[in-house]
Amino acid sequence: MPELPEVETVKNTLKKLVLNKKINEVKVLYPNMIEFPSVEEFIKELQGKTILDIKRRGKWLLFEFDNKYLISHLRMEGKYFIHEHSEPIGKHDHVIFFFTDNELRYQDTRKFGRMYLIDKDKLEDSKPICALGLEPWDKALTKEYLKGKYKHKKLPIKTVLLDQSIITGIGNIYADEILFLSKLDPLKPCYELNDTNLEDIIKYTREVLEHAIKLGGTTIKSYESAKGVHGLFQNELLVHSNAGELCKSCGTEIIKIRVGGRGTYYCPTCQK
Ligand SMILES: [Zn+2]
Repeated sequence: MPELPEVETVKNTLKKLVLNKKINEVKVLYPNMIEFPSVEEFIKELQGKTILDIKRRGKWLLFEFDNKYLISHLRMEGKYFIHEHSEPIGKHDHVIFFFTDNELRYQDTRKFGRMYLIDKDKLEDSKPICALGLEPWDKALTKEYLKGKYKHKKLPIKTVLLDQSIITGIGNIYADEILFLSKLDPLKPCYELNDTNLEDIIKYTREVLEHAIKLGGTTIKSYESAKGVHGLFQNELLVHSNAGELCKSCGTEIIKIRVGGRGTYYCPTCQK
């Protein structure tokens, strides 16, 4: 699944390809992909609109128009590709935005991706954006904020790091890396974390995600960004997907467990 750094990479790549392009026509070949409004309204509203900017909130892409945002989540396998008009439509191309010179196609083999078209002034109060917590780089993300959110939570920190309503954009791979660098046992209950632990979580969340963005994200399984840019971060993972390998810090074997149903990798010596 694309995580925040991959979505950031897709956003930056797409910006180079479609910024200031006018949508002449929209084709929706898989209606279930449009969560809101109706498919008819979605098509009608976007016709003639120019893409003014592309932003990211959590793992959502936001295409900005004069009075609307098109909000798109890639879920497991969603990808955007630029095609010539003459290229035949593939069976996994589900939504097509036609420009004058070429077209942007949303391709999704698993069909889990979703799109919303939301009034600009209602963005923060509407689904799905209203459910998102703070961005990792938000100045409001402080140890006091986390303390408030964590103090009554008995759930393991690994599970809570994935809760998008607290910090948005931390996926499974990055949560393991953040906990390794913070020297925290993924099973530790949230309310037991002290000030230093919370400061470490914030610090390493930013560091890990910034580093991953710089490298274009990870490419686990078939994920590619808009123009086929492959992430390099998977070469630098410290614990995630490294079960059986030796911890780079202490030499103990890295183990894999399941936490809240998610595969979780950690060093039992470094992470207490
Ligand atoms: Zn270790």
